[in-house]
Amino acid sequence: MIICDTHCDTLYMRALQPEQTPCVTMENMKKGGVSLQTCTLFAGSTGERAHEKAMAEYAALERLAAREGWEKVASPLEAEEGRTKILLSVEGGEIFEDSVERVYEFHARGVRMAALTWNNENGIASPAKGGSTAGIKPRGWEILRAMADVHMAADTSHLNEAGFWALIDRHSQPPMASHSCAAALCPHFRNLTDAQIRAMAARGGWIGVNFYPRFLREDGRAGVRDICDHIDHICQLGAHKHVGFGSDFDGIEYTPYDCHSPADIPAILEELRRRGYDQPAIEDIAGGNFLAYYRRLEGKA
Ligand SMILES: [Zn+2]
Repeated sequence: MIICDTHCDTLYMRALQPEQTPCVTMENMKKGGVSLQTCTLFAGSTGERAHEKAMAEYAALERLAAREGWEKVASPLEAEEGRTKILLSVEGGEIFEDSVERVYEFHARGVRMAALTWNNENGIASPAKGGSTAGIKPRGWEILRAMADVHMAADTSHLNEAGFWALIDRHSQPPMASHSCAAALCPHFRNLTDAQIRAMAARGGWIGVNFYPRFLREDGRAGVRDICDHIDHICQLGAHKHVGFGSDFDGIEYTPYDCHSPADIPAILEELRRRGYDQPAIEDIAGGNFLAYYRRLEGKA
C-alpha cells in the first residue's frame, strides 16, 4: 500500500531548531510504511529572511540526502510501495513575492505544492488567522498562474475563507489543503467548514487531515480515534476520494497520545478497518487519493 503524508516541518526543525529532536526520521517513516512524505520549506513569519531560511531548510534536505539517502521526487507520481521518498512544498507565499520567477526557481528545486500564506498577511493573500475577509491579491493571481503553469498545487491550509472561495471559483487547477481538519468537529479557524469540504470534493481537490490535537478536539486530548472521526466526517460529506493524511509532525506542539510519529500511521489504518472501511477505501485514504489528485493536476487522469 502507498502511504502519503502531505505536511511536516522537519526541515525547519533540522535547519533552524537544532536543539529539538524530529520524529520524522527515515527509521520512523520506514516503520510506518510511508512511501511519500511531504517536507515543507517554511517561509511564513520570516520577513525579509524568507528566502534565506527556505534555503537553509533546503540545505538540510541535501544533507539528509547525502548522509541518510533521503530521496526527493520530481513528481508525487514517483511514489512506490516499499520505498520512502520525499516531496518538497513551501509554506508561506512570501517567498515568491519579490518575483514570479521564484515560482520557477523553487519548482526547479522540486517544490510541487505551496501554501499561499502562513499565519501572516502577505502580498499574495490573507490568512485564516485574524479573520480578514479580503480575497486573493492581484500579485497573488500572477503567482497562482505561474504555479498552475508548472502544476504546483495551491495549498489552502492557513488561507482565509475569501481566498479559499476565490481559488475554488477562479484558479485553473483544483486546490488542496495539506494540513487541515473539519471545523464541524472542532471549530478552529484553521479547519474547513462542511461547505469548504464539499467544494473541495466537487472541484477535484484534496484534504490532508492534520494530527494536531488542538485541531482535532476542542479539549486538545486527541488520539487516533479522533483522526479517524475527522476522516469519517469528510468521507460522509462525499469527499472519500479527496482525503488523506497531513500530519504536521515536527510542526505541532504535541502529538496525539497514541500517534507520535510516522511509525504510528498503521494504527490509523487499523482503526479505519475496525470501523468497516474496506481495503480499497483504506488504500485511497492512505495515499491513492493524493496520487489521483496529482494525476488530475498533471493532466494524467
Ligand atoms: Zn502549517
